[in-house]
Amino acid sequence: MNFQPDENGYYGNFGGAYIPEMLYHNVTELKNNYLNIIESEDFKKEFESLLHDYAGRPTPLFYAKNLSKEVGAKVYLKREDLCHTGAHKVNNVIGQILLAKRLGKQRIIAETGAGQHGVATATICALMGLECTVFMGSKDIQRQQPNVLRMKMLGAKVVPATSGSQTLKDATNEAIRYWINNPNDTHYVIGSTIGPHPYPDMVARFQSVISFEIKKQLKQKENRETPDYIIACVGGGSNAAGAFYHYIDEPNVKLIGVEAAGKGISSGKTAATIAIGTEGVIHGCKSLLMQTKDGQVLEAHSISAGLDYPGIGPLHAHLHQKGLAKYIPITDDEAIEAAHRLSKLEGIIPALESAHAIAILSMMKFKESDIIIVNLSGRGDKDMEVYSEKFNNKEN
Ligand SMILES: *Cc1c(COP(=O)(O)O)cnc(C)c1O
Repeated sequence: MNFQPDENGYYGNFGGAYIPEMLYHNVTELKNNYLNIIESEDFKKEFESLLHDYAGRPTPLFYAKNLSKEVGAKVYLKREDLCHTGAHKVNNVIGQILLAKRLGKQRIIAETGAGQHGVATATICALMGLECTVFMGSKDIQRQQPNVLRMKMLGAKVVPATSGSQTLKDATNEAIRYWINNPNDTHYVIGSTIGPHPYPDMVARFQSVISFEIKKQLKQKENRETPDYIIACVGGGSNAAGAFYHYIDEPNVKLIGVEAAGKGISSGKTAATIAIGTEGVIHGCKSLLMQTKDGQVLEAHSISAGLDYPGIGPLHAHLHQKGLAKYIPITDDEAIEAAHRLSKLEGIIPALESAHAIAILSMMKFKESDIIIVNLSGRGDKDMEVYSEKFNNKEN
């Protein structure tokens, strides 16, 4: 089984829990309890009912006819963009907050870059009546005002991280510091398949509902459960983990993860971790990351804030190393062009992150009989400023 880690949280060579002594209590409490809780009937019932009635699941599997014609194969879009709050992130947040409640936690903290994970966390805290604090780099607070306002309207406290580059990495440090000081009543909701064990496994399990649904939906539409390809963008790797999960040990399904090349993988302005990363420890686990020869983590660049991360979750590092999935970089410009194309062809404006996955369709050769599923991780409302800028310069 390549989709689950061993008892120490390792997928092959990657994973584990590299944490300071001070976090040992919190992380061990989670590790010792998460499987019992999420596999209990009572948890499953509440989780499934909220995914259905609140998040809006199952999300449709949409046959994109116009896009298919252009690509020369059958393309289906898994519509995670139709989830409440506009992306797949809410699946994981619902799971973690139900878990936190069962562990007796009253306070929730999270860190956020662009604000999508922060908004999802603030949303579910409002629903559950829990106190929510979101740490965010002060530079990001300036850049992402609409999401900051959403979090505040939902009742969350947004705390600026003013150290270092004043972005996601610094917000993460602040959140960890807070957690160390409040170990008993607080749960830290991590937003992707990253961090110390058990987070990557826990988040992958909560997101695996995506491929669980795809199997059933494809059976109905095509009378088979397995597509030829599944394509998903990869930041930390949670939407891709969810879309791959139930297909990882199916040899006939080709899994393709799409990383952000930024301005190009050799430009010095990139987030293509698989392409240029090396082994190291990042945010509590062993994985691949972009670093200098002496181990300084490099700053990542992508036009899409959700993919702008110098590491990758250990599951993906493992799938890459074993050749079980293929990872391809897509540049900022290629993603923007793909977003415009999908909008005109299908009437769907994708998130910049998801547009990276769409861009692959015009780079690869497919057979006419191929069935391709693209996981559309989120919607593009938040990215209109970037899209319209390019649009005004192009005149079409
Ligand atoms: C956060 C985000 C991503 C990247 O995160 P993963 O954990 O790699 O899925 C991708 N798409 C959208 C819409 C996001 O909000």
